Amino acid sequence: MKDLEELLEEAHRRYGHRCAGQILGIRMSLAGLRELGVDPQESRERLVTFVEIDRCATDAIELVTGCRLGRRTLKFRDYGIMAATFVDLEEHRAVRVLTRDDARESALAYFPDAPDPTTAQRQAYRTMPEAQLFTIEPVSVELGPWDLPGPTRRKVVCAACGQVVRDGKEVRVEGRPLCRPCAGGAYFQRLP
Ligand SMILES: [Zn+2]
Ligand SMILES: [Zn+2]
Repeated sequence: MKDLEELLEEAHRRYGHRCAGQILGIRMSLAGLRELGVDPQESRERLVTFVEIDRCATDAIELVTGCRLGRRTLKFRDYGIMAATFVDLEEHRAVRVLTRDDARESALAYFPDAPDPTTAQRQAYRTMPEAQLFTIEPVSVELGPWDLPGPTRRKVVCAACGQVVRDGKEVRVEGRPLCRPCAGGAYFQRLP
């Protein structure tokens, strides 16, 4: 497993900047992986990670875990919470690592002489004890067959528009299979 400093350098190269979010994401991942005893470089197919926010921490989590949306091993739940859950598919264990709300204040206390809060955070998050940054809780995660990595398991044609819907994501309305946009509640509106 690479260490924090190596991973920070890698994040800087890949994302073109340094920030507190990256540090949190890397440390969250290192904590979660350690709790599960999983090294993603040794066993890629074993780990699924749920992220709960779309910020820099999430990019860093992807970098450390190797979990990717395109591989179905990274799952995004838009909760707006700085947390991630690491799931070991082999051992059926999972831990949720949650950033403590008081981590920011603790960081400022560690580096009271820092020129600004951002610098204090960046410095402190590298060295603060893990227990001051995160709460780690064992959790249970139900991953259905439609959400697992691997090849497409089913294709269904939408009865309204003819679009193919994969992996059981269709919606049944009065017995007919529909794609989600046809079933209503799409994130976009068709133009007239
Ligand atoms: Zn950033
Ligand atoms: Zn449709």
